[in-house]
Amino acid sequence: MRIDIMTLFPDVVGDMLCESILGRGQERGFIRIECHQIRDFTKNKQKQVDDYPYGGGRGCVMLAQPMYDCWKHICDEAGHRIHTIFMSPCGKQFLQDDARRLERDYDRLILVCGRYEGVDERFIEECVDEELSIGDFVLTGGEIPAMAVADAVCRLVPGVLPDAECFVDESHWDGLLEYPQYTRPDVWMSRQVPEVLLSGHHENIKKWRSEQSLERTRTRRPDMYEKLNLRPCKPF
Ligand code: SAM
Repeated sequence: MRIDIMTLFPDVVGDMLCESILGRGQERGFIRIECHQIRDFTKNKQKQVDDYPYGGGRGCVMLAQPMYDCWKHICDEAGHRIHTIFMSPCGKQFLQDDARRLERDYDRLILVCGRYEGVDERFIEECVDEELSIGDFVLTGGEIPAMAVADAVCRLVPGVLPDAECFVDESHWDGLLEYPQYTRPDVWMSRQVPEVLLSGHHENIKKWRSEQSLERTRTRRPDMYEKLNLRPCKPF
């Protein structure tokens, strides 16, 4: 999987995605993340990437031209059009199922980060295949959303995590939240680790975790719990 990110802050985004598991995934060649400075594609002396909105109103809108030239540069280098996602609070909410779909269906993705009041709609019409939001709130830019999407997709690429079990057991994989986790020591602040986890009895541990997972989902996310019976189990 290769992900190209179009942003005004390539260093910040690149540094973040080079750390820890994703950094090792890149070093080992399972994934590649490239960040592109949109400003490098401006045609004016000031390297201006935004301008006032037609129709008036506050703030500025990102110009279509440098965004298009940056996008085209990435696609031309690849030799084909690449599935392009604009990070936007107006987009469909990004879910774990989207991370699975994007990892399964594409070898390459372009993630576009907006700033200011957003991006000239004509760039979106011309180049963008889907718009994704990371939630019903507004951030100052698309960098954090793009990092969230890149992280969620890349950790599903075979080889990035030690094995598929690392994520198939996790929250949101099959419509459930994960059971509580504990590590050493077995007593901390007078709080004891549940006895069953120290028993070494694998069947009982499995049953306990499954019950905890269901109970957590029921109490914390009744919306997810309601859907459980309707949701078919998805093999990886
Ligand atoms: N004026 C826009 C609106 O009301 O929909 C918000 C613009 S926001 C200040 C600037 C940029 O941050 C957006 O173009 C988008 O790329 C990104 N952004 C902000 N919130 C986001 C969210 N919840 N999900 C994805 N991207 C977001």
